[in-house]
Amino acid sequence: MTLPIAEQWFRRETFADGVTLLTEPHVDPFARCNVWHVRGRERDLVIDTGLGICSLREAASDLLDRAVTCVLTHSHFDHIGGAYEFTSRVAHVDELAELSRPSGFGGLTARALGDELVQRLRGAGYAVPEHFLTALPSAGFLVDDYTVRSAPLTGTVLDGDLIDLGDRTFEVLHLPGHSPGSIALWEGSTKTLFSGDALYDGPLLFDLPGSSIQDYVATLRRLLELDVAVVHAGHDPSFGKERLREIAIAYLERWDA
Ligand SMILES: [Zn+2]
Ligand SMILES: [Zn+2]
Repeated sequence: MTLPIAEQWFRRETFADGVTLLTEPHVDPFARCNVWHVRGRERDLVIDTGLGICSLREAASDLLDRAVTCVLTHSHFDHIGGAYEFTSRVAHVDELAELSRPSGFGGLTARALGDELVQRLRGAGYAVPEHFLTALPSAGFLVDDYTVRSAPLTGTVLDGDLIDLGDRTFEVLHLPGHSPGSIALWEGSTKTLFSGDALYDGPLLFDLPGSSIQDYVATLRRLLELDVAVVHAGHDPSFGKERLREIAIAYLERWDA
């Protein structure tokens, strides 16, 4: 299969409150993670990093021009691929094992991901094509050689920890269910939630290795208690409180919880 070479790998979108979204438009939606950059006075925040097949640092060098903390919402490959480019990398302690010894979950083709996982993703409602890229990041890029580069954490976080950017503070919310150590970051002053894969406006994944419906029920109930203005999620477009309620309640009813 011959794919075109992308002129530009990352797409950028600017939001209120110093928030910028970077995405990889040439990646199939199920593996297209939202990379969030948040500007702070003392330091910046990068939340998740995409597949890591093209340099995020180069693409966003104008944004990444000062001290930055890279927070990984969880250890799935589409979120952690670019983590190696950051010197400060944190995630929840319950994702530590997978991040220090990646189990190999990941790939740019259905074949590389494996039948069982692909069936689960398709069962959840994702199309999951044979090839996940619609363009290559550069000539000579070899899809079959893709692996997630090693990027051990430099720190871990727990529920309730605060990440201070100088003029703004984010609270870590431990929201297991999608994965054991899934986290969100909550900025109470702007009522902004960076939810990772705990909640997004697409088919939620609750039967992956490490997933737990029981934990997910508690997570969705907790999210329903939050007085959010905007949710910037791990995938798909951002949304507000009403949509959060619709999504969370639909899954709770489906699980009879
Ligand atoms: Zn995930
Ligand atoms: Zn994801």
